[in-house]
Parts: sequence; C-alpha cells; structure tokens
Amino acid sequence: MTRFPPEPNGYLHVGHAKSICLNFGIADEFGGQCHLRFDDTNPTKEEHEFIEAIKDDVRWLGFDWKDQLFHASDYFETLYAWAETLIEAGKAYVDDSSAEEIRVARGTLTEPGTDSPYRDRSVEENLALFRAMRNGEFADGERVLRAKIDMASGNINLRDPVLYRILHAEHPRTGNEWCIYPTYDYAHGQSDAIEHITHSLCTLEFEAHRPLYDWFVENLPVPSKPRQIEFARFNLSYTVLSKRRLLLLVNGGHVTGWDDPRMPTLSGMRRLGFPPAAIRDCVDRAGVAKRDSVVDLAFLEHCVRTQLNRTAERRMGVLRPLKVVIENYPEDDVEELEAINNPEDPGAGTRRVPFSRELYIERDDFMEDPPKKFFRLAPGREVRLRYAYFITCREVVKDAAGEIVELRCTYDPATRGGDAPDGRKVKATLHWVSAAHAMAAEVRLYDHLFNREDPGADGDFLDDLNSNSLEVLENAQLEPSLGNVPVGMTIQLERLGYFCVDPDTTPGKPVFNRTITLRDTWAKIQAKK
Ligand code: ATP
Ligand code: MG
Repeated sequence: MTRFPPEPNGYLHVGHAKSICLNFGIADEFGGQCHLRFDDTNPTKEEHEFIEAIKDDVRWLGFDWKDQLFHASDYFETLYAWAETLIEAGKAYVDDSSAEEIRVARGTLTEPGTDSPYRDRSVEENLALFRAMRNGEFADGERVLRAKIDMASGNINLRDPVLYRILHAEHPRTGNEWCIYPTYDYAHGQSDAIEHITHSLCTLEFEAHRPLYDWFVENLPVPSKPRQIEFARFNLSYTVLSKRRLLLLVNGGHVTGWDDPRMPTLSGMRRLGFPPAAIRDCVDRAGVAKRDSVVDLAFLEHCVRTQLNRTAERRMGVLRPLKVVIENYPEDDVEELEAINNPEDPGAGTRRVPFSRELYIERDDFMEDPPKKFFRLAPGREVRLRYAYFITCREVVKDAAGEIVELRCTYDPATRGGDAPDGRKVKATLHWVSAAHAMAAEVRLYDHLFNREDPGADGDFLDDLNSNSLEVLENAQLEPSLGNVPVGMTIQLERLGYFCVDPDTTPGKPVFNRTITLRDTWAKIQAKK
C-alpha cells in the first residue's frame, strides 16, 4: 500500500511525476494499491482549483487511484484525539512562546536547544489550554502544541516539534470547523498509519524527519505501522521544480499561467504536446536513487521524440510561406496526391493532399545566392516536392523593396509521385502546401524557459529567464487535413517538428504549439560518447 500525497498549493510538475510513477508503479508491481491523498493541512495556501488540476494530471499521466481518494483533513478529528492522548501521557504540551522565541530556543546543528518555560505544565493545564485552542479562544500564533521529546537531540526535528498551530482560516473542505491545524510532520505519518500504508515513499529531505515519523508511530495508538523510505528528487536541467518558484513565474507574469507550454508542470507539458507515455518513460529510465542528480532536459526530449515518432501522424505545413507559381501547370487544375500518414505505422494509412498551380514552400528552403552546402531550391535548380513533382526555379520576383515575393517555377509532369523515369536525381525534397487549399494558422514556437542549465545557481533564477522562449508566427499555412485535428492532438509537420493543437484555437483560427523540433540533441550526445 503506497500513497501519492500532494499538497494542493500549486500544480503538479514533472518532479511529482517521478513520485506518482514510483508510488503507483510499485503498488501495481506487487499487487497493491496506491492512494491519492491530499495533504491539506495548510488552508491559507490551498485552493480547490489545485485539487481538481492535480486529479486531472494524475489521470492524464495514466494512473488510477480507484476509490482510494483521501484527504488529511478526513483525519482531523482522529489526529486531534491522538494529540490529547499524547498530552495525557505527558508527551505533549502547550507552549505560549512566539514563533520567533521557539525558533531561537531550538538551537542549531552544533548547539542544543533550550527548554521552553512552558514545558513542564501539568497534564490538566495542557488539556484545558489545548481545548481552549480548539475552541477559538486564542488568536493566531498565540500558542502552539508541541511534542515533548528532547531539546538536546542531535536531530533538530526531535527538539519538541510543533504539532498544532492556531490559524483562523477557512479550510476548503472543513470550512470554519477548525481554527487549529496539524503540522505536516504530525499529520503525514498518522494519515499513512490510518490508511494502512505499508511503504511511505518520500523524497530525501524527509530523511531527517524519519525518527520523528517513527516516534509518532511508537507513541500513538495507530492502527498500523507504516515505514518511511526516502529516494532522491527528480531534477531536470534548464528547469526549476519548486512550487514556490513556479508560483513566482505565474504571479510575475513571466508565463501565461500554470499550464503555459514552457512550464515544467504536467499541465504545461500536456499543452505543449508531450505524451504522458514519454514522461513515464523518462522518469522510469532515470531510476530511483539515494543520491541527488540532475536529468538532462535533452533526455526527456529524446523520450518525447521516440514516442511521437511512433505515434504522431505526419502532415505538411509551411511556417514562413514563400509563394511558388508553377508556370506550366494548368490554371484551374487540382490533383490529389497520396501521402503516407506515418511511415512507422503502416496501419495509419494514407491521405490525399491537393496540389495546384500556386503553392507555398518554406522561405528558408530558397536562397537566391546559395552557399556551397545549400542543396535546396535556388535559381535554375531542380528539387523534389514531397509526394508531388520535381520543380525547377526559373525566376525570382521581388517587390519594390527588393524582398522576394514569389518564385516562378516549372514542373516535370513525368516525375509525379516523386521519381524521375530517366533516373535523374535531386538533392533536396521540400514540403509544401497548395495556396488555394491551405489553412492559415498561428504557430507558437517555444524554446527553453531558462538559458542556463542550473537556473538561479548564481543569484536570482528570474535573471536566467530566456527572453526568446516564445516566437509567434501569425501566418503559417497548413495542409487542409489539419482543419479538423482536435485540441491536444500532436502531429508531425514534415521536416519541422511536432506540433500540438492549443486550446486557444477558435473556429477558423487554429493555434499550434511546437512541441519539439526533430533534431535529437540527446542522441547526438550519446553518439559522441
Ligand atoms: P516542491 O518542493 O516542488 O514545491 P513539494 O514537495 O512541496 O514540491 P508536495 O505536494 O508536497 O510538493 O509533493 C507531493 C509528493 O511529491 C511528495 O511526496 C514529494 O516528496 C514528491 N515530490 C515533490 N517534488 C519531487 C521531485 N522533484 N522528485 C520526486 N518527488 C517529488
Ligand atoms: Mg511539500
């Protein structure tokens, strides 16, 4: 029995995906069950919006908690009763010290703490005060309940940790029923025990909390004895993975929201077009360790490409259109050429792509004065149009400002389908769309949100934001079959990359996000090794 215990104070990020895959994966492997439990012990930071978003993300990632959905707040009454048990056993006391006084008296890693002047209150006085705390007789911060363990412990977490604090705040689920709330340390392990969790898998920063976790299990009448086991966090280069920082990006307007396609959140990655199978593959292959490490973003992208290469259908589209007129092609003719949907998946079939006298090709695929290694279209040169014909550039038409506005070309009717009967070869195959049939679209080209591997390593992480992380192309021209692709679907535009339909799409104005280019930098790094 495992659990994934998010705090609903933000959206899930790809680090959480590690924890989700591990907890659900292990339960599955051993015929167990993984619970989804919201750690909703801090009502001031938590919102209903986050709870729903987290559920969507866990489902999207491919996991099912069945009917095992819980909230730490389900246990508030039990946790309260157990706190009274501790008081009665002389193992907890009400402290009137301020947060600052408690912090100072806690000591440091090298110096022991000092006992609170309230540490030796009688059981009766403690019980009366704790009940008064619950009854709302004190203001926020006026008193806390602390465990009475050992102020000289070498482990700071055992120096009389706080169990309850006063917070007159409305809770998303319990409303105004409570004005005292349990701390994470107190609520977490006990929630595990109540749910009969056997393996409480958490990240390494909780290693030093484990003795406290065990102390509660030993000293409370819990129905089961869970065991905490730590593993290293999942980190990703060029990325920040902390909800606090992600919130700064959102609130500072550096991104459009938690689901901005540049965000390392699961909702951002979904919107960008990353398949959940690729994320699962990446975190699985990154492994489970006790030592911190950073996964190369190029590796995640490699997993995304591998997955999309198998599943995404191919289409043609031109991002920066340049008009081509085929002078010897009949004015009003249109023919439908057969194109393969996915060479990796014969079952994906074929489709028909219209061809006519006026086409668009990619502006970058033409150079008037090509350097030596440029094999694409140039004056007098012949190239292949994918699935169509060989064309030769005859003339370059410019406007008054000297900008190229059109190419006049001729085609060879004998090369229909893409091969010349006389066996002559061309060095390039270009993608294209028929101008009269094309659909205009907005295409958003995304790049990494940060321009260094370790954002914030030398100061403020916001200073490392990549100011060119988004380029918007307003007038891309796509083949007509892309007119009815649903939001969220990812396709490959041949030679350009993978693109996903964005929810900003409106009828007649499709918006596509570039998920990723075709260039696999990770494969290159591996090849060099
Ligand atoms: P953050 O530090 O990013 O703000 P958090 O740990 O506060 O995240 P929680 O909602 O408490 O977020 O996390 C839920 C679970 O996910 C916890 O068990 C936590 O250990 C785990 N988790 C969070 N970040 C990572 C990560 N980068 N790698 C692996 N597991 C993680
Ligand atoms: Mg946390």
